[in-house]
Amino acid sequence: QEKDYQFMLRTRSPGGFIPPQLYLTLDRLSQEYGNHTLRATTRQGFQLHGILKKNLKAAIAAIVKSMGSTLGACGDLNRNVMAPPAPFKNRPEYDWAWEYANNIADLLTPQTGAYYEIWLDGEKFVTGEENPEVVAARQSNSNGTIFQDKEEPIYGTNYMPRKFKCSVTVPGDNSVDLFSQDLSLVVITNDRQELQGFNVYAGGGLGRTHNKEETFPRVADPIGYVAKEDVYELVKAIVATQRDNGDRADRRHARLKYLLEEWGVDKFRSVVEGYFGKAIAPLKPLPEWKYLDFLGWHEQGDGKLFLGISIESGRIKDEGNFKLRTALREIVEKLQLPMRVTPHQNVVLYDIAPEQQSQIQQILDRCGIKKVSEIDPIVRYSMACPALPTCGLATTESERAMPGILDRIRALLTKVGLPEEHFVVRMTGCPNGCARPYLAELGFVGRAPNVYQLWLGADPHQTRLAEPYIEKLDIQDLEAALEPLFVYFKEERQQQVELESFGNFCHRVGLEALRSFAATYRSA
Ligand code: SF4
Repeated sequence: QEKDYQFMLRTRSPGGFIPPQLYLTLDRLSQEYGNHTLRATTRQGFQLHGILKKNLKAAIAAIVKSMGSTLGACGDLNRNVMAPPAPFKNRPEYDWAWEYANNIADLLTPQTGAYYEIWLDGEKFVTGEENPEVVAARQSNSNGTIFQDKEEPIYGTNYMPRKFKCSVTVPGDNSVDLFSQDLSLVVITNDRQELQGFNVYAGGGLGRTHNKEETFPRVADPIGYVAKEDVYELVKAIVATQRDNGDRADRRHARLKYLLEEWGVDKFRSVVEGYFGKAIAPLKPLPEWKYLDFLGWHEQGDGKLFLGISIESGRIKDEGNFKLRTALREIVEKLQLPMRVTPHQNVVLYDIAPEQQSQIQQILDRCGIKKVSEIDPIVRYSMACPALPTCGLATTESERAMPGILDRIRALLTKVGLPEEHFVVRMTGCPNGCARPYLAELGFVGRAPNVYQLWLGADPHQTRLAEPYIEKLDIQDLEAALEPLFVYFKEERQQQVELESFGNFCHRVGLEALRSFAATYRSA
């Protein structure tokens, strides 16, 4: 008799878009086949855990029939395309980001019918009209170096060497962690807010392996600017560069970031230009990047409202008096609202009529959901991957350990006289880095049961990588490791325009100074 194999199932949701019928289906499936919870992921999809093999087909078919998909949410191809979750209707650049996130997702969707043959007995459900421009761009054979074959014009028979991750964002909005992506596009508009083109970044990626120096996290490099008419050809050229030159012999070394690291930006750009067939223009100037999470109530610019709801570690569940799963189901069922999963494992409900606001707030209050102002910012700005017990790669706890660890950090900050302080904390159960800990001001990366690598010094807006400070920290020793750092930070932080953040402080003084202060502090 076959074992009860169980699976994790993940949605493909460009820009995090989840229509109401899909949310209700996912909620039902988590009850019927899953572990009675839903998990919002750091790539703006939902994961269902614990689906038995015998139920996979029914679950996937139900998702597709509810305007969803799981196609390309995993595997050696383009993964879910990210975009800011904010539904601003008076800021056209946000609309462009959504539109192009969808279009890039469609452009890079595998064309094989196998998905529908396996999961839907060959019945092809159309989950939305494809943009004819995108269909033409996928099939275009204008540059014979990109086109592979009729069935898979871009991927050919061998697909990509490894996963490939894209995002589309707007100037100043780094909600998507654009520097962690293989390829990011930034919407560029003119004075009349008409779309002109995109700034392009490539070669970011965070996954690594412990004790393998040749694997490392890396932030994306600026590549240049592309006019909107050429954007699909440039995206295809970058994908083809990685498809044909990425390392297919060693999976640990197969991401685009290693190509960029080894070639440098100039060689990379010139190889891409060979596929693209023309020169790539210089970048357009941009404002500084900001971490935005869009939590709480906001006007969306067309008389309606949106609401960002904080979800600790992305887990939508009912537990005691805390009934987040019930609340979301009731709101979506009654009001049929669309939703965007955010890159920080939260959700944004939108298109809310002003007269629906109090009804929604009452449901949330009744179900024990805190208002944003009641959430400790250290919790608000934290992320943890699922790790144990659901991820097969986990070496230690993450999601289940994070609340206790954040409580201990808050207690320690209070003890050293920084009771209001907060910064970005992220944790993962292995070095793969699904919760992007290498871009956190304080990052925990699982090494062994209850043992973590500690990373410090990324900036609060995720534009600079952290560095490893402690190789193996037994979590019992958390306070002993952090107290000297917090004391040093309190004594020496600088005030320029703003008070220096913990990540910027660690970066400015450097890891050696932190280590030496900690040694002196302990011996005092
Ligand atoms: Fe699993 Fe590692 Fe990703 Fe966490 S970071 S979900 S442990 S693969």
